[in-house]
Amino acid sequence: MLGLAPTKAKNLKAMAERLRDEHGGAVPSDEAALEALPGVGHKTASVVRAQAFGLPAFPIDTHIHRLAERWGLSSGKNVVQTERDLKRLYPEAEWAKRHLQIIYFGREHCPALRHVAEDCPICSWAAVKAKATARGRRRTA
Ligand code: SF4
Repeated sequence: MLGLAPTKAKNLKAMAERLRDEHGGAVPSDEAALEALPGVGHKTASVVRAQAFGLPAFPIDTHIHRLAERWGLSSGKNVVQTERDLKRLYPEAEWAKRHLQIIYFGREHCPALRHVAEDCPICSWAAVKAKATARGRRRTA
């Protein structure tokens, strides 16, 4: 983590300058403008839009990406696909809330490593079924 500090510091300084020079010192709510800021990627821009501005956005972090695949809600191919699938699945008005709910649930209950769905009492029925469906999909692909 410490190795990233110089880059983060450089990005923060450049971002503050851009906000001052191009946005009148305010954080923009526009997706493209946010993603154009130094050090700001699509996920961060989506978090800012959802949490700071209350705009419809569905930020996909590693917890959400992992759980969407385990629950059979997305193929787990990549975060772009996961975002597309979850946005299709939930009404726009729920995106920001679902984002937080899945993150909190994942942090609390779902280990990233050594995941044995059959041993988990919470949603093993869903995870096991999703795993079998995904296996079947891979076999026929
Ligand atoms: S089976 Fe348990 S660990 Fe696996 S996704 Fe469900 S709640 Fe999370």
